[in-house]
Amino acid sequence: MRTFDFDLFVIGGGSGGVRAARMAAQRGARVALAECAELGGTCVNVGCIPKKLYSYAAGYAEAFEEAAGFGWSIGEPRFDWATLKANRAREIRRLNGIYRGLLDGVGVTLIQGWAQLADPHTVQVDDKRYTARHVLIATGGMPFVPELSGREHVVVSDAMFDLDPFPKRLAVVGAGYIACEFASIFNGLGAQVTHLCRGAHLLNGFDDDVRHFLAKEMTRTGIDIRFNTEINMITRQKDGLCAMLSRGQRVEVDTVLYATGRVPNTQGLGLEAAGVTLDAKGRVAVDAHYRSSVPSVYAVGDVSTRQQLTPVALAEAMVVVDTLFGKGRRQLDYEFTPTAVFTHPNIGTCGYTEAAARMKFGEVTLHSSEFRALRHTLSGSGERTFMKLVVDKASDRVVGLHMVGPDAGEIVQGFAVAMRASATKAMFDSTIGIHPTVAEEFVTMREPMP
Ligand code: FAD
Ligand code: NDP
Repeated sequence: MRTFDFDLFVIGGGSGGVRAARMAAQRGARVALAECAELGGTCVNVGCIPKKLYSYAAGYAEAFEEAAGFGWSIGEPRFDWATLKANRAREIRRLNGIYRGLLDGVGVTLIQGWAQLADPHTVQVDDKRYTARHVLIATGGMPFVPELSGREHVVVSDAMFDLDPFPKRLAVVGAGYIACEFASIFNGLGAQVTHLCRGAHLLNGFDDDVRHFLAKEMTRTGIDIRFNTEINMITRQKDGLCAMLSRGQRVEVDTVLYATGRVPNTQGLGLEAAGVTLDAKGRVAVDAHYRSSVPSVYAVGDVSTRQQLTPVALAEAMVVVDTLFGKGRRQLDYEFTPTAVFTHPNIGTCGYTEAAARMKFGEVTLHSSEFRALRHTLSGSGERTFMKLVVDKASDRVVGLHMVGPDAGEIVQGFAVAMRASATKAMFDSTIGIHPTVAEEFVTMREPMP
């Protein structure tokens, strides 16, 4: 029988790659992992973690304003961008070290450098070649910026964490997760934000009521959202950038962020030469067990998935590990993947939008509530909260749960368990609320919308 240097060679040390390498090694496999940058990948270095830290930072602006209504008086708050950047960098370095420790601890061979497939069982890193029984591609994705005149002046999300100086005037292009989150964050930190969306709404794919409500709330916090607007050209001026807009307007800003989607990292990996098929979107095409067209090559996470989320990459990695080194083949069920958008206020959502539920289930009943949270009776803030349930009329199952409001991500995580367990509206109704909370509204929305 052919012998290999490793049982599994993982290319990419991000969410999916590290999880697969660590768990496979824990099960006794001989594992190598190649990473060309810092361990932890997008999520740890330029994604979820630094983004959430900056989102917390932005939240203090509201908190200081609201404290007065509760009797606090504080001097004029001052924000120091350099301190936030330095503290974030220190925390990310700590996490990079933790990832290294986790992999070292279970005996994964770490190889620093750019890896590519030489053949279905051979990976080349710089001038060294390693053989492996199985190869896992977990190389993630990178920002996509469309062609435009002045493209060289724009930045992508990776650069936002270390901008120097702080952008007093920021234009954000795109209406997806990243655009909405960064618009909220930089608005909270004190930038004047112009948010340019080519379509008529934010966040394609989310429930329409959620999209409208979020736009209203983001506008209330001071973000200048312009729908049906694109940038034709960007020029550098003496004191910043000038973006010429599709409708004849112009905006003058310090920084233009393009958050217009991400593309899979498949270039230069030797995939096609090794016979690995890519799909129409350039992702590694995989079957339900994440196996590519080459039987020894698997792919998980942003390089191949439909849902670019860290917990999805982790879950896919575990399916591969179970398939190759243990518990046997199984399939992931993506149907009720919960997700949050860390805007101010947050979106939390699980299951079907109203429109998608109508398509899938036919008749649905809807319950929704919009209110001012107790906290804001004294805070003076005009912030409002929106919650919505979509119920399949035939089975009474809650198939969609949506929220825009503080801590929506935290709240929806718990409800996602109930939804995966097929909870019905009657079960929601018979659940006793925790009072006084915002979340209790989900179990007290009795009357359907007319
Ligand atoms: P990655 O984490 O991107 O890891 C891929 C790794 O492969 C990288 O470290 C890269 O350097 C390495 N690599 C690439 N090519 C090679 C090569 N040839 N050789 C060696 N190494 C290579 N998701 C959430 O769930 N919640 C969030 O709040 C959230 N926020 C986000 C915010 C931002 C700004 C962004 C950009 C993304 C966010 N995401 C969030 C998405 C999440 O970060 C990704 O879905 C997740 O990181 C994907 O993991 P992955 O393992 O597929 O890829
Ligand atoms: P998304 O796919 O979410 O959004 C891309 C946006 O860019 C859309 O609004 C799209 O508009 C717009 N767009 C695309 N091309 C152009 C163009 N040429 N001109 C103007 N606008 C354009 O991508 P993101 O980059 O925001 O995020 C990538 C993924 O990362 C997300 O889908 C998500 O899975 C993950 N992520 C998750 C987060 C979380 O869990 N909180 C946070 C951040 C990222 P249109 O809608 O009209 O097509």
